[in-house]
Amino acid sequence: MSLMDDIRITGDPVLEEVCEPVADINDEIKDLAHSMLETMYEADGCGLAAPQVGVNKRLVVVDCEWGSGKKTPYVLINPEIVETSDELRTTGEGCLSFPGVTVQVERPRRVVVHATNLEGDVMRYEAEDSLLAVCLQHEIDHLDGKTLLDHLGPMARMRVKKQVREAIEAGAKPGDVEKPSKAPKKG
Ligand SMILES: [Zn+2]
Repeated sequence: MSLMDDIRITGDPVLEEVCEPVADINDEIKDLAHSMLETMYEADGCGLAAPQVGVNKRLVVVDCEWGSGKKTPYVLINPEIVETSDELRTTGEGCLSFPGVTVQVERPRRVVVHATNLEGDVMRYEAEDSLLAVCLQHEIDHLDGKTLLDHLGPMARMRVKKQVREAIEAGAKPGDVEKPSKAPKKG
């Protein structure tokens, strides 16, 4: 089931809450994970965290190879970052909760994450200098009530909030990483 209409936009208090661990991988959690994957693909995103659809649970879905045409979905339940590099790298990040903007964020280049999958197995994910390295950290931030705004100083934070408002007014939808063009459609 698509949850496109449930995607929460920055400013929604659910995006600022620390999420509860998933205690039991029951049918409700499995349904939620599948709906989140469907929503992520529909929005052309590479990751989605449960609070972004209004659910206060430590669950994220990721697929960083989707652009290549092949689906490689990961479901991470109660993910934990167990290792990060000291060296940092800055990349432009979008977020389904920030329609129409891309924000430069500095994060560790390398990350190791442990998480449980839907079958109940504990998995290890390691990524360096890749979209996956960024995406894992971005999505796990959401579970701790952090968003792109938490990586910015006060001035940049105000600017990004304004950009999101303007992009939404211009018709931006979750998944858009830049403001829609106002250019009239050619007929
Ligand atoms: Zn996000």
